[in-house]
Amino acid sequence: TQPGSVQFTGVVKKYGDVTALKKLDLMIEPGKLVTLLGPSGCGKTTTLRLIAGLEMATDGTIHIGGQDVTHLTATYRKVSMVFQSYALFPHMTVRENVAYGLTVKAVPKAEAAQRAEAGLELVGLAGYGERLPSELSGGQQQRVAVARAIVLEPEVLLLDEPLSNLDAKLRRHVREEIRQIQQRLGLTAVYVTHDQEEAMAVSDDIIVMNNAEIAQIGTPAALYETPSSSFIADFIGDANLADCDVLEVEDGMAKVVLNGNTYSVPSHRPLSGAARIVLRPHALKLMSPQSAGVQGEVTYAAYLGKEMQYTVETNIGSLFVISPVSGQPFAQGDAVSVAIDQDQARLVSQ
Ligand code: ADP
Ligand code: MG
Repeated sequence: TQPGSVQFTGVVKKYGDVTALKKLDLMIEPGKLVTLLGPSGCGKTTTLRLIAGLEMATDGTIHIGGQDVTHLTATYRKVSMVFQSYALFPHMTVRENVAYGLTVKAVPKAEAAQRAEAGLELVGLAGYGERLPSELSGGQQQRVAVARAIVLEPEVLLLDEPLSNLDAKLRRHVREEIRQIQQRLGLTAVYVTHDQEEAMAVSDDIIVMNNAEIAQIGTPAALYETPSSSFIADFIGDANLADCDVLEVEDGMAKVVLNGNTYSVPSHRPLSGAARIVLRPHALKLMSPQSAGVQGEVTYAAYLGKEMQYTVETNIGSLFVISPVSGQPFAQGDAVSVAIDQDQARLVSQ
C-alpha cells in the first residue's frame, strides 16, 4: 500500500454498552476524497476519530499508508483533522493559528511562519496573516482551519462536517474550494457529512453508513443509478418506492408486476418474488386519465420555474413527480395517469 491509503479490517468500536461500529471493513485509495455519509448517530465521527487516533478500536486493525497504526495515538499518526467548529485560537493571529501545529512540532519559528504563509496562499488567504480570526468571515475562518491542517503535510486529511457552521450560500463555495485544494495537492481526504447533496458534490467515492455499519460504497453516480437497498434509494436522491413482484429475469431485464400491470425493468441484482421498485421523480410522467399507467389524483402542484412538482395519490401510494414545464400544467384535483419510464426504474429487495 502507498502513502495515504487507509484500511480498516474488522474494526469494532464500543462505548460501554453502545456499539458505535459493528465490524467495519474499508479501503480508501491514496489521493481520493471519500465521504462518510449517513444519518446522525450512525458512526461517522467515530470512524474519523479512529483514523485520527483520537479513539482506539475495540477490535480489528487499522492501517495508514500500509503501516499498522491500530495502537498508535494521534501524535504518532500523520493525519490532520478539520472540525465543524473551526477551533481557531481567538487571541492568535491567522498566521500564528496556521503555524501552531508546526511550532508544537518544534519547527523553527521563521520556517513555521513561511510555511504558514504558503498555506494561507493555498487557501486564497494570502495577506490575511496579521488579522485576528474575529476579523474574518465564517467561510474565511474555515479556510484558515483547512490551511492549519494541510501545512502539517498529513498523509490523510480528515474533515468532520466542515461546512455545518456556514450559511447555505457559503457552503457551496467553500466545498468547491476544499475539493479543489484536495485535488491540487493530491491529498487523501476523508470527509464526513449527513448531507447527501454535499457528499455527491465533493466525493470520488461515498461510503454510506447506517446503524453502525456500511450500507453501500460507490461513486455518486453508482449509488444513484444502482442503489442496493430501499435505504440507499431513499437516502441518495429522491425516490418513490412501491412493492412489486418479480416474475422472471432474463438478460439483465426483470419482468415485474406492479399494480396489475407488467413492466420490463433493468435488473442489476439477483432478485425474485416480492421486491420493491424505485421510481425517481423524473422517471414519472403525468398523462391524461385513461392513458396507460397508474391512475391517481393530483393533490399538490407547484410551479418552480423550470419544472413542476406534483404529488399524486394512487393505489401504489403517494408519488412525487417532477416534470419540465410545458404547455398547460396539471392542477390540484386533476385526475391523471402516471406513466412510468421503465428503463429508469430500479429494483431493490423488500
Ligand atoms: P455520527 O457522527 O454519525 O453522528 P457518532 O460516531 O458520533 O455518530 O456516534 C455513533 C454512536 O456512538 C452514537 O450512538 C453515539 O451516541 C455513540 N457515541 C459516540 N461517542 C460516544 C462516547 N464518547 N461515549 C458514548 N457513546 C458515544
Ligand atoms: Mg458526527
